Amino acid sequence: MRQRYCSESCRAGARKWLRWKAQQRYRRSVGGKQKRNGQNQRYRERVKARELPEPAAVVTENSVRAENAVVPSIREILVVSR
Ligand SMILES: [Zn+2]
Repeated sequence: MRQRYCSESCRAGARKWLRWKAQQRYRRSVGGKQKRNGQNQRYRERVKARELPEPAAVVTENSVRAENAVVPSIREILVVSR
C-alpha cells in the first residue's frame, strides 16, 4: 500500500515521522522490558525481604511450641514409662 503525498516535503516529513514512530516503538519496547525487569527485580527483593524474617518466626513459634507442648509431653512419656 503506497501513499501519495502532495509534495516532496510532505513525503520527506512523512518518512521522518515514520522513522520517529519506529524509534519510539523500539524505545518503548526496550524501555518497557527494562522497566519490567526492574519491577521483577524489585518484586523479588521485596519477596526476599518479606520471606527472610519468616523462617525465624517459624523457628521461634516451633521452639515455643516445643517448649510448651512437645518437651513436656516427652517428659510425661518418660515419667509414665519409668
Ligand atoms: Zn502534503
